[in-house]
Amino acid sequence: MAAEEENCGNREERVQKLVEAGYETVEREATACIRCPLHKSATKRVIGKGSHNPKVMFIGEAPGKNEDETGIPFNGRAGKLLDKMVEYMGLAEEDWFVANTVKCRPPENRRPKADEIECCKPFLIAQITLLNPEIIILLGNTAEKSYCPERKLEWGVPAEQDGRTVLKLYHPAALIYTRSKIEIQNSFIDKNRKLWQ
Ligand code: URA
Repeated sequence: MAAEEENCGNREERVQKLVEAGYETVEREATACIRCPLHKSATKRVIGKGSHNPKVMFIGEAPGKNEDETGIPFNGRAGKLLDKMVEYMGLAEEDWFVANTVKCRPPENRRPKADEIECCKPFLIAQITLLNPEIIILLGNTAEKSYCPERKLEWGVPAEQDGRTVLKLYHPAALIYTRSKIEIQNSFIDKNRKLWQ
């Protein structure tokens, strides 16, 4: 096994320790984490933002340039579209939280690799466990690969995963490049409103 993989440790054990230690420890440990190579080029760790008692938790892909500079997820162009999506969903500030599959920006905005996602996953699972959202909205395929690695979900069709409702929607960045997806995304939201209302 490669040294970096060894650094990632046992997922269940890491999650259990983090959950027992509480949310502030998750933030502190994620901020200090050097388990995978992504930390080498990251400026700030991007842990998450939003309510600590959310009904809905969004999972994005990875921090980009703006997020790396500020430490705030979805803080750039995609963030504006996420805000619009949240507004269309009718969620109030106290209803939602957002985090990414990895806390460090991958170089040149590439997709995070499977081993980087796996290495960062204990932080994400501990966040989910501690914040305890009823619904997890997976923003795109990378979020799905992280949270539901064994499955292929249908876009806009809710499913159960580890005792929670999951819903795969388009990543807001996909709406920037393919404007026609906005209408489809809105129809997915309309069909599923009862999940969070
Ligand atoms: N895209 C993501 O997936 N996450 C962010 O935080 C910003 C853009």
